[in-house]
Amino acid sequence: MLALVKTAPGPGLSLHTVPDPEVGINDVLIRVRKTGLCGTDLHIESWDPWAARTINPPLVVGHEFVGEVVETGSNVYDFTPGDVVSGEGHVTCGLCRHCMAGRRHLCAHTVGLGVGRDGAFAEYVVLPMTNVWSHWPGVDEDVAAIFDPFGNAVHTALSFSVLGEDVLVVGAGPIGLMAAAVARHAGARFVVVSEPNPVRRELALRMGATHVVDPTARTLRDVQAELGMVEGFDVVLEMSGNAGALRDALGNMAHGGGMAILGIPNDEIPIDVSQVVFNQLTLRGIYGREMYETWYKMSVMLRSGLDIRPAITHRFSYRDHEAAFATARSGESGKGLMDWMD
Ligand code: NAD
Ligand code: ZN
Repeated sequence: MLALVKTAPGPGLSLHTVPDPEVGINDVLIRVRKTGLCGTDLHIESWDPWAARTINPPLVVGHEFVGEVVETGSNVYDFTPGDVVSGEGHVTCGLCRHCMAGRRHLCAHTVGLGVGRDGAFAEYVVLPMTNVWSHWPGVDEDVAAIFDPFGNAVHTALSFSVLGEDVLVVGAGPIGLMAAAVARHAGARFVVVSEPNPVRRELALRMGATHVVDPTARTLRDVQAELGMVEGFDVVLEMSGNAGALRDALGNMAHGGGMAILGIPNDEIPIDVSQVVFNQLTLRGIYGREMYETWYKMSVMLRSGLDIRPAITHRFSYRDHEAAFATARSGESGKGLMDWMD
């Protein structure tokens, strides 16, 4: 099969013919149709310090996908060739305390698709059946291709109750954009999105943000005053990984507020812990998605009117992967897809 491969340590990715993945007795073999490009793929492509520490080439990259089941192992009864599916990219151990208790998102032995095992930027991908999610008939395949990051957005946005609350989304990358839409769908009053990039602020408005702010031009204090807010944001969704932005958000929260932190900072972030204490804040780290409560919520929200399609701004053939990566890296985009059937 054709696959986008990191062949050796160092920058770059290239298309190669590699052996088809082997299908174990508990596995599902999937013909990949569309894939989404994620920041993780960019880190692996550019071979930054995280990638150099984490990745063992050769590796097929990519983890956001939709495809069709083509073969199943002899233990697999719940999937049939022809099913349209996506994959939960965190392959958990199944044996630890949390896995055994059904809290697989808390597994400490998670292996990432396209990170610790061969991924989905390929004609075929194999996953254990417990990592495969069946879509409903007629699902929009562009949307199905990005269930993984959409799940990050949903898991983060639903970490604290947002009904009637004032929500601040920090960072309007693809995940922040989708989180803004989810917060609005889930009944937030104000959904303020803070983002320095004007292209992304515009996208945030299309996704349902009630207000956008350029943090280089205006303070959150001013925004609060303009909206008539007196006690601060009830819920903050930190999706930038930016130190100053996180600290700024922390200082603009209502007493008793909650901050769900998805953004991955490059360095340590000093914070004023007395703000957390006196304002009785809850900070919650978010990694991945809940298996499979988040996937259930994604599906029902999409089927009851939530629209995340404006977050998808670019579509490429897998052959144009270099252009796809360059566009994602530029920041002048929402989510980019690659089509593997072209
Ligand atoms: P992204 O890099 O496309 O988006 C981050 C956005 O933050 C950018 O649009 C950037 O302009 C904006 N930003 C930068 N400085 C800012 C500031 N001072 N104030 C407000 N916004 C600012 O990333 P993404 O794909 O949308 O992912 C969001 C974050 O979540 C990233 O940090 C990513 O590494 C992380 N992530 C975490 C998980 C997880 O499971 N925890 C999964 C996927 C991604
Ligand atoms: Zn486990």
